[in-house]
Amino acid sequence: MTIDFLIVGQGVAGSVLAWTLDQRGCSVLLVDSPALPSASGAAAGIVNPLTGRKLVRTWNADKLFPFLHDFYTDIEQQLNVRFFHPKNIYRPFRSEAERAAYLALLDDPETAQYAHETFDNQLYSGCIYNEFGGLTVTRSGWIDITEFVRIVKGYFIKKNQYYEGEVLTNELIISEDTCTWKDVTIKKVIFCDGVQGSQNPLFDWLPYNPVKGEILTATVEHYPIKSIVNQGVFILPLRPGLVRIGATYTWHDLNWQTSDEGRAFLEKKVSSLLRVPYTVVAQQAGIRPSTKDRRPFLGLHPEHGTVGIFGGMGSKGASLTPYLAHQLAQHLLEGEDLDPATNISRYESLYFDKKNGALTAQVGQRPHQT
Ligand SMILES: Cc1cc2nc3c(=O)[nH]c(=O)nc-3n(C[C@H](O)[C@H](O)[C@H](O)COP(=O)(O)OP(=O)(O)OC[C@H]3O[C@@H](n4cnc5c(N)ncnc54)[C@H](O)[C@@H]3O)c2cc1C
Repeated sequence: MTIDFLIVGQGVAGSVLAWTLDQRGCSVLLVDSPALPSASGAAAGIVNPLTGRKLVRTWNADKLFPFLHDFYTDIEQQLNVRFFHPKNIYRPFRSEAERAAYLALLDDPETAQYAHETFDNQLYSGCIYNEFGGLTVTRSGWIDITEFVRIVKGYFIKKNQYYEGEVLTNELIISEDTCTWKDVTIKKVIFCDGVQGSQNPLFDWLPYNPVKGEILTATVEHYPIKSIVNQGVFILPLRPGLVRIGATYTWHDLNWQTSDEGRAFLEKKVSSLLRVPYTVVAQQAGIRPSTKDRRPFLGLHPEHGTVGIFGGMGSKGASLTPYLAHQLAQHLLEGEDLDPATNISRYESLYFDKKNGALTAQVGQRPHQT
């Protein structure tokens, strides 16, 4: 069997890329190992053009947000499914000073296109502490990533183009024009292996900066708010009476287990935001595939042009992947240049340093011959 692309890993990145290439008429085999953990399984899937305390515009927001909207709704329409939930984000001010500072930020038309002051704050005040009013961020929402991944998996299973299992790099036979894996000949293998990419011998030279995150699911009675509320933590209404509360960011204890500290942190934060009682019913943890320069990793291997990567999506996989998958497809299929900010060629020297270091070590280990 010969195919165009083997996509290794089916989190949000692998799902979006596999769909993109399939829609361009390519033959795709999508592989995922259920035995390996996935950040997408823990993600809230929020897409938010203005983030942080300073309402910083998400990198490339003007391109990413219209694109993701069309991308996800197109899949919904084609497959008659629902997983994309456009919703405003309500950000209560913590003080008069914060209100003044935020309103000053809205003087910038680039920021103002995504947000405005909220005047119906009483809609929220039964459940949320918001005595200083708030701000509404628009063009935001959330992707039910678990549902999206399940739908894409079903689509490829139906086409007989899905394989459940792990791709071991030592099983890949890489040659100049093709790769072979098991009995499949592949034009290009693209790794969408999330933070596991940092252990992948083909791409472990890329500077990852993994960030652990935890999230709670809680029941809450009498919570009529439809928007996502965000102030230090977010409260995402999943369905009536059920919300998600998140998320933590830690750079230590990089394991996939939930922790008492994570839960305590989120509960403390949410207690200064949520007025009504809630009960935690689940807790999840994941590791975000973040990168040192906070830009994703796209492109082909410096020496093996039949192997590539689509990763490093950090805390924004849901918003970054649709547009970036399009860019990668344009690169692979039409030869268009990748954005230098995301192209892994920016780190090529690290690859050759690693390779030369390994060679030097080998030479150093060679026994002397006299
Ligand atoms: C608590 C938390 C909250 C978050 N909230 C948001 C949010 O609101 N919005 C947002 O956009 N992002 C959010 N994120 C970030 C988001 O999870 C990531 O950006 C995204 O999931 C990364 O997707 P990925 O497909 O690159 O990696 P992953 O989801 O980790 O997927 C990688 C997949 O590859 C598979 N795999 C790896 N190696 C192999 C192999 N050799 N063979 C076969 N399969 C393999 C794994 O099984 C896994 O399924 C959050 C993350 C966390 C932890």
